[in-house]
Amino acid sequence: MSQVQVQKLTKIVVCPAIGYMGEDAVKVVEALRQLSTPPDKVKCPKCGQEVEARKFALHLSKHCRVGGKNIVCDICNEKFKDMGKFLRHVREHLVIGVLRNGMWVWYCTVCGREFTCKRSALVHVLKSHEVEE
Ligand SMILES: [Zn+2]
Ligand SMILES: [Zn+2]
Ligand SMILES: [Zn+2]
Repeated sequence: MSQVQVQKLTKIVVCPAIGYMGEDAVKVVEALRQLSTPPDKVKCPKCGQEVEARKFALHLSKHCRVGGKNIVCDICNEKFKDMGKFLRHVREHLVIGVLRNGMWVWYCTVCGREFTCKRSALVHVLKSHEVEE
């Protein structure tokens, strides 16, 4: 079997659709391809809480701590100077790319939707999984 080429935007991939959090993006891509229907509810792999899929990115953004002037991501321990940068970073935990027939395909790890460009996948995470009421 040929090697699957994947691209992560952060070291740790968070995939609530399969309840996984870790460095193995290949495993995530393969599991997402098996996903038949996007889940309404997902389980946060960080804290085990059940969260509505449309609010998952919002939920994940709560996994941070403020230390001095920095915001520290609880998932990967990266530090950020402001909330805006941190929020952008959180979305990057939820997008991975896979090389297929010479083209990069981008996945949302919350619902498994595919995108032809990274930007669209990140916008999707913002609009579809960061819904505030
Ligand atoms: Zn959580
Ligand atoms: Zn992080
Ligand atoms: Zn999605």
